[in-house]
Amino acid sequence: MEMQICKDTHCEFKGPQPLENFGKSKRHKSGHNTKCKSCVARRFREFRATPEGKEKSKAAVRKYAKANPEVGRAKVARWKQRNMDKVLADNERRRLQKRNQYIEDVNRTTLWKRDQGKCQRCFNPVKLENYHMDHIWPVSRGGVHSYANTQVLCENCNGEKWASYPSVWEMLKIYKRLIR
Ligand SMILES: [Zn+2]
Ligand SMILES: [Zn+2]
Repeated sequence: MEMQICKDTHCEFKGPQPLENFGKSKRHKSGHNTKCKSCVARRFREFRATPEGKEKSKAAVRKYAKANPEVGRAKVARWKQRNMDKVLADNERRRLQKRNQYIEDVNRTTLWKRDQGKCQRCFNPVKLENYHMDHIWPVSRGGVHSYANTQVLCENCNGEKWASYPSVWEMLKIYKRLIR
């Protein structure tokens, strides 16, 4: 195996190392750098920590982003895909805010605890991770996004056709919460 000694005075490897530890370079007869890969990486890290290095690496990132806008867009798209619920919740909030139907943030955990972790139509227990936050008076009919107007539903009950109309009993629930 061909060996070479790293030229970096702060090299952690004392003595010869296999040539594959040195990056390829056409500028040298051996076809490899004179400093080993770990030294090159360390020097680069050290440089990047200096004010000049920080500025340069930031500029490089900006230049790359400008030259490759599709990479940034793809990154945003991937993030959105992974955080679909957040994106949807955000869009929904903005839509309701525009129509003055957004009264308050309704925290999923708080609501689930208030309704004792049970679907408010069939009273079967539902998991916090996948219950449906239902607007008793539908927002499509002018209902607001607030604790008084939301309840926990299971997937089944949410899927029911009549779910879009609140029952008298449910209307009473909203009313009681509002006057409390
Ligand atoms: Zn080295
Ligand atoms: Zn149910």
